[in-house]
Amino acid sequence: MQLADKVALITGAASGIGREAALLFAREGARVVAVDLSEKGLETVEAIRSAGGQAHFVQADVSKAEDAQRMVSEAERVFGRLEILFNNAGISHAEDDDAIHTSEAVWDLTFAVNVKGVFLGCKYGIPALQRAGGGSIINTASFVAFMGAATPQLAYTASKGAVLSMTRELAVIHARQGIRVNALCPGPLQTELLMKYLDTPEKRQRRLVHIPMGRFGQAAEIAQAALYLASPASSFMTGAALLVDGGITAAYVTPE
Ligand code: NAD
Repeated sequence: MQLADKVALITGAASGIGREAALLFAREGARVVAVDLSEKGLETVEAIRSAGGQAHFVQADVSKAEDAQRMVSEAERVFGRLEILFNNAGISHAEDDDAIHTSEAVWDLTFAVNVKGVFLGCKYGIPALQRAGGGSIINTASFVAFMGAATPQLAYTASKGAVLSMTRELAVIHARQGIRVNALCPGPLQTELLMKYLDTPEKRQRRLVHIPMGRFGQAAEIAQAALYLASPASSFMTGAALLVDGGITAAYVTPE
């Protein structure tokens, strides 16, 4: 029970990493506020409740200030306080490409969700963590903040770089207030976000050749890393970028 009695807010909780983290955090004793644009977030909450846990669903768009404010105030209203904020919701747009071919609309939407969404989560979440006497913030970035790809997603890649630098600065600002802020950087995962593009064996192989472990990660493996960052097990860790990537950022030549 690494999160006994803690209140955790997780965005993007309807699917992938967010859903797995919500289920895991609840199993570890947290009361979970599951936030998602999609009403499927309710299914995550129902799964937690049917396993005997406590959870509350807030349908919200993390890129909208009033929604971000409401998700935090709902956490405090329903569970009394907020100690763990997992800013995880993110998008990868089908028309995100190189500089020549990415439209301003795709750029702006990607930054609205992936960067402004994290900013707004922190803007309204940090005062709540202060009221609770401290806590842990986890922002989902990506291994693409460290590496370039010839299969470009320029807006997405730049947005994740912004999440890393925002995380570092927030960590420094709030370090003496008992608030830790870390970035979680997953490698390529077998979730909806990536698999909807990698829809042929050839496209999947184009990526797999670069991953030393030779497979995509699972959302549940990333949830375990989020649990570590959320829990007191990582009590001396702040401003860090935790790569959980099957070795992709360590590789020059991968095994045959
Ligand atoms: P996913 O698509 O399975 O889940 C993302 C969830 O976020 C969805 O439920 C979606 O409805 C929600 N969401 C999207 N826009 C939102 C908004 N404006 N407000 C609230 N909720 C919104 O994706 P995932 O793979 O679990 O990705 C989670 C995070 O991990 C994202 O930030 C993503 O960029 C990052 N990531 C994913 C991979 C990967 O390979 N899948 C790799 C590195 C980083």
